[in-house]
Amino acid sequence: MAPANDSGGEVDFNLSEQQKMLQRMAREFATKSVKPLAAEIDSSGQFPFDLAMEMAKRGYQGLPYPAQYGGSEVGYTSYTLALEQICQASMTVGAIMAVNTVPEEAIFRFGNEEQKKTLLAPLARGELLGGIAFTEAETGSDPETIATIARKSGDGYVITGQKHFVALAPAADLVLVFAKREGKGLNAFIIDTSSSGYNVREPCETMGLRGLGTSVVYLDDLYVPQQNLLGEEGQGFEILLEAITLGRLGVAVEAVAVAQAALEISIDYAKQRKALGKPIARLPTIQWHLAEMVSRIEAGRWLVYRTAFLRDQGSDIKYESSVAKLFASQIAVEVTRMAMQVHGSYGTMKTMEVERLYRDAKMTEIYVGISEIQRNLIANHLI
Ligand SMILES: Cc1cc2nc3c(=O)[nH]c(=O)nc-3n(C[C@H](O)[C@H](O)[C@H](O)COP(=O)(O)OP(=O)(O)OC[C@H]3O[C@@H](n4cnc5c(N)ncnc54)[C@H](O)[C@@H]3O)c2cc1C
Repeated sequence: MAPANDSGGEVDFNLSEQQKMLQRMAREFATKSVKPLAAEIDSSGQFPFDLAMEMAKRGYQGLPYPAQYGGSEVGYTSYTLALEQICQASMTVGAIMAVNTVPEEAIFRFGNEEQKKTLLAPLARGELLGGIAFTEAETGSDPETIATIARKSGDGYVITGQKHFVALAPAADLVLVFAKREGKGLNAFIIDTSSSGYNVREPCETMGLRGLGTSVVYLDDLYVPQQNLLGEEGQGFEILLEAITLGRLGVAVEAVAVAQAALEISIDYAKQRKALGKPIARLPTIQWHLAEMVSRIEAGRWLVYRTAFLRDQGSDIKYESSVAKLFASQIAVEVTRMAMQVHGSYGTMKTMEVERLYRDAKMTEIYVGISEIQRNLIANHLI
């Protein structure tokens, strides 16, 4: 047991038997069902509908949430453990699970009882898939400049605007949308994507996280009933911060997982690739890389686990999730760069796994809040 400190209670470094079992089952699913498809998802850029359904069937979409709202009630640490295994096989497939958790978290923290039953429960049971639409053409970091507008209309609202980089866009059934009500701040709505006015436009051809369905979405005078307003009018910014906190934990997990995958393939490669008549694993320079890689991963992993653990204790993890995301995304970029170095020219080939990991790692420094924003949040907390 570690001593108690400022930002939380004690940390138990031992996983429970239930957590170890969940981790084992997720690893088995990831190895057998996800990993064989990872390269194809990346090269085609097609959203893996079947795998998303399979994850839902296996209960991976509602791990932290109470059983009364459709979840498995196993907590955020267990969620982290399962997500890590899936991301190690394919960051895109794991990200489907992580993105879905963002609207779930928003409804769980701010929804009324009816919303938890009718919106959170089907998401947590995996019957529906959820996304988040915050980013616009002019901004991904500054809520002040959001231009999407919600106008009051009868017993609901009409939303008009354009959202960019909406992950899961072609697959999502519900999307947490942020829109301004003139003079009344930011609002959060859960929209049903079967409503007329939800129009998925061109896909965003990103260099990593390919196959996540990331697209431009037009909200063309989309009607949302009053009961789909989350929290109070004007509470959108608070809801965004809370929901995105879990999104950041998810990205930090993705980063650790992609780094771990890069380490493992680097060890294998170094054992079989020869230079000077012996495996390159015997060269001190390669050993230096491997040692640096694993040290960074271990540090990132414990930071991430601790953040999830604190959430399980009921702590606010806004600061911790920013620290975890900033650090884990940096180590992911550094570790995959070293992995690329271990692989030499072969590593740069499109057919090699390390090439995909290198591209995926970079995404973690950017999406769900760029590193600069994390540093701002961390520094504000400190001073
Ligand atoms: C694959 C992928 C999936 C995504 N999924 C979603 C999704 O599902 N929903 C969604 O809403 N968005 C999503 N996004 C969008 C993503 O979260 C934003 O693009 C990201 O937060 C950065 O915003 P931006 O691109 O507008 O960067 P900008 O805000 O334009 O920033 C550009 C650069 O300016 C600097 N900068 C900007 N603001 C500051 C500041 N305050 N302080 C210091 N420097 C600053 C930084 O160097 C930054 O890198 C996704 C993006 C990708 C690539």
